[in-house]
Amino acid sequence: DDRLVDHAPQPGDSRDKALRPLSFDDFVGQKASIANLKVFVDAARRREEALDHVLLSGPPGLGKTTLAQIVAREMGVGFRATSGPVIAKAGDLAAILTNLEPRDVLFIDEIHRLPPIVEEILYPAMEDYCLDLVIGEGPSARTVRIELPPFTLVGATTRAGLLANPLRDRFGVPVRLEFYDEAELGLIVSRAANKLGINASPDGAREIARRARGTPRVAGRLLRRVRDFVEADGSNEITAATADNALRRLEVDALGLDSLDRRYLKALMVSFAGGPVGVETLAAALAEARDALEDVVEPFLIQQGFLQRTPRGRVATARAWEHLGLTPPVAPAT
Ligand code: ADP
Repeated sequence: DDRLVDHAPQPGDSRDKALRPLSFDDFVGQKASIANLKVFVDAARRREEALDHVLLSGPPGLGKTTLAQIVAREMGVGFRATSGPVIAKAGDLAAILTNLEPRDVLFIDEIHRLPPIVEEILYPAMEDYCLDLVIGEGPSARTVRIELPPFTLVGATTRAGLLANPLRDRFGVPVRLEFYDEAELGLIVSRAANKLGINASPDGAREIARRARGTPRVAGRLLRRVRDFVEADGSNEITAATADNALRRLEVDALGLDSLDRRYLKALMVSFAGGPVGVETLAAALAEARDALEDVVEPFLIQQGFLQRTPRGRVATARAWEHLGLTPPVAPAT
């Protein structure tokens, strides 16, 4: 479970906190989304209103939490964070909402995993800043309406499609985060290296960036591991050669594929002749959770042109056969 290139947070990542960008201007990439958010934040600030609710969607590790914190900071308001699976009862959410200061940002990670009963009380809270709570039971039960301070809900989800429509419709500002390109990740690596007190040559930073799967969290993690190798060799500079050497030893290949990616592609190509095959079947063959494959493995393989999602199932592309050095039984999809 300690996959080096996993997009999901790992215990050692808490040290990343020092690396987090703190303002829109520090935040690398996602240019169009950031430009829009800036406009909305400026407008809300000028009117002294709460910012409209924001839905951040995209694979893990692309900066959803970071961006939510930046929004609060740029608004000059407080930040509270929780997550969908943690809020079990309507009362849990009510407690959080009634304790907010006016215009605060409430960040709910994995908002697609909110229990339906909690989701229902969220609707009037988002729309009218009020809660309708049922007090008591049986014939004496009554509903009380509680006014809430105006607030901004920033929801994060790996896939916006996982949200119920009524919830999705209540977000005025939908933001889809995309994978980062190599130049952006190179900049993120250089800045992070600076903050960690190690020198990374532009080539060295680029070498790490190329293998970071378009994902800042992975870039940060690879950087820390490479730094360990470089320092063990008594050096304090990350060059293309030292980065490449370290990453080879960590079994992250030239395109950022790790052993799970290769296992996925091999299963698809060898056991299922390149597909099409259903994701459930693949998950069973790999003994991995379907969600993990859909959230973390597949988006990157699709983005890199190794995999196609078709109505009949997953299909390996010509590039996948080539990258793994295997021969397709019949002409592969391109
Ligand atoms: P998510 O909430 O989408 O899983 P996070 O916001 O926790 O992702 O980001 C993961 C890590 O990547 C953090 O350490 C963060 O500092 C870093 N990071 C994310 N986006 C950027 C960015 N645009 N520029 C610099 N660092 C970033």
